[in-house]
Amino acid sequence: MSNDRLKVVDAFDLDDELRSLLRPGEMVRDEQGRRHRLPRYFYEIAAHEEATNLRLTPHFGMNEFVFVDLREHPRLQAFPRYIPCAVRVLAFYLEQFRAAAGASVHIAVNGGYRSPAHKMALNSTPHMWGTAADIYRIGTNILKTKDLIERFNDVAEDLSDDVTTLPYGHVTGKNADDHVHIDLGYITVVPREISEDRMEMPQESRPRFAFEERRRRERRAVIPAGSAGED
Ligand SMILES: [Zn+2]
Repeated sequence: MSNDRLKVVDAFDLDDELRSLLRPGEMVRDEQGRRHRLPRYFYEIAAHEEATNLRLTPHFGMNEFVFVDLREHPRLQAFPRYIPCAVRVLAFYLEQFRAAAGASVHIAVNGGYRSPAHKMALNSTPHMWGTAADIYRIGTNILKTKDLIERFNDVAEDLSDDVTTLPYGHVTGKNADDHVHIDLGYITVVPREISEDRMEMPQESRPRFAFEERRRRERRAVIPAGSAGED
């Protein structure tokens, strides 16, 4: 498979084990007891090399969102790997955050997508939606102090009311004392390649692909100046 296309999958079409780990469409509770529906549409990343080469935005690659440690279920540590389609929305916001912070932003292993089967996943967390990132370093700043975490939390929250951070503190899941947690809440994305004409039955087996931004730009670039274009 080439690196300039992202394969979109409906998790209901995956095998039984993957479905039981990703739990598409199931409800999970957050700490306050509110229920949230888990995402159903995922990008399928075929191989490590693909994750490394695939850019979601100019400064964020797919690899930063899919790398997990041994606390993730073994099947989900292997390729092909799956990540909710909303990760692109997150990458877009992180790109804005990077610009506002004026420095490079480093997401840690486990700091992007974590499946509902991940050992860190007790209650629902936007990490299960692919809409949260844990950032351990910004430029040369290691984010371990109250001052730094609060300063960059403010930078993140000033971007948009869609952005939430965890306050400085020592209670795992409620606070953060060694990273900045940025999330967009429980966003699910239905990719335009998907037809929503069925509930939970397998769709056609034909693979669906979403084009990456870079490729879209390349296609636009070949339209001669003055031409009306065809797309
Ligand atoms: Zn987090």
